[in-house]
Amino acid sequence: MRLSRAAVAAALAVSAMLTGVATLPETAAATSPLLQRPFVAPGGATALTLAVTPGEVATGRAVTLSGRLYDPATGLGSADDDVRLEVAAADGTWTELALLRTDGSGHVTAAEAPAATTTYRLHHGDLGSGQESVSPVVQVTVRPLTARFSRDGVQVGRAVAVRGVLAADPGSWVRLELFRDRRWRVADRARTAADGSYSFTVTPTQTGFSRYRVVRDAGVGRPRSVAALPPLDAFRLHTYSVTTRGTVRADVAAFRSVVAATYADPHGWRRGHHRFQEVRRGGDFTVVLAQARYLPAYSWECSTTYSCRVGRFVIINQDRWRGGSRHFSADLLTYRRMLVNHETGHWLGRGHAYCPRPGAPAPVMQQQSKGLQGCQPNPWPLGREIAAVS
Ligand SMILES: [Zn+2]
Repeated sequence: MRLSRAAVAAALAVSAMLTGVATLPETAAATSPLLQRPFVAPGGATALTLAVTPGEVATGRAVTLSGRLYDPATGLGSADDDVRLEVAAADGTWTELALLRTDGSGHVTAAEAPAATTTYRLHHGDLGSGQESVSPVVQVTVRPLTARFSRDGVQVGRAVAVRGVLAADPGSWVRLELFRDRRWRVADRARTAADGSYSFTVTPTQTGFSRYRVVRDAGVGRPRSVAALPPLDAFRLHTYSVTTRGTVRADVAAFRSVVAATYADPHGWRRGHHRFQEVRRGGDFTVVLAQARYLPAYSWECSTTYSCRVGRFVIINQDRWRGGSRHFSADLLTYRRMLVNHETGHWLGRGHAYCPRPGAPAPVMQQQSKGLQGCQPNPWPLGREIAAVS
């Protein structure tokens, strides 16, 4: 429905008499710094203004868009007229969001809670018609909720922080949620500081991955903010030292570095939530690079041919470290990783495993130095071996 110009003018005159409202056009500076010069179609009879407050919000927070349809020649507001609130799509096209009706002085207002940064304009009249007018565009910047762990993993029983920012929304509540038994459960709540920042502390009590997220509800019917977090790895930390026994000709620094890299590798026992940290002396266990003849000195069960694990000692036979095994049909680095993982697997409490079927990757706890039993050489713990130590 459209009102004739005469009807609008009459309505305005009545409106002005009844309410005493000023009919002068409002200046851009008086409403908002975001307001630009209104666009008037060539030959158009109306002009539109648009302003928004605030221009920056957190997800789910409402903004107020206000504009005015008026006659630029007289400054008279266009009462009881249709104005479309439009949003810009990524490709630059405009979509109608709401149909608004001007009040007695030509004003329209709308409350919106954008889920993401959005550009708005007001539009009056049919496209290309002499009556068409478009307001300047305004943009509402939506600042999403952020969250991150202070570390990618944490030792069981130790604390890790979750920190983030809910920009443009200080003093509001956010909650930490933990996914358990197939649903999200509230783990903690915190209030954002003056700069929008917040923090939580998480202290896992068992090993494994756990999923957390931070949520802020904006109110019924409004988009809520969810900040996803990567899975948190709660691990057992083992300390170890490296030493040598007998006459060692191998490069000990290289040995130390292969051991550390094998422990740090995501394919290794680390996948089962075990992490290893080298210390100068002592530690939970000792990795020994030993001259072959000293192996039996640790136990009658250790031979001069192979590597061995006795109590706290993970003993790598120098002959195998340097020369590999004729049964192991892969490169020397792969063989060395297998040695480290196999003997450390014993220290973690795992016994020997056997080739499950020809062609399959060998379990790391298989005695691959003695023969592959038809399996493929493999330096890393298999899924079921990881599960057994998790
Ligand atoms: Zn073994």
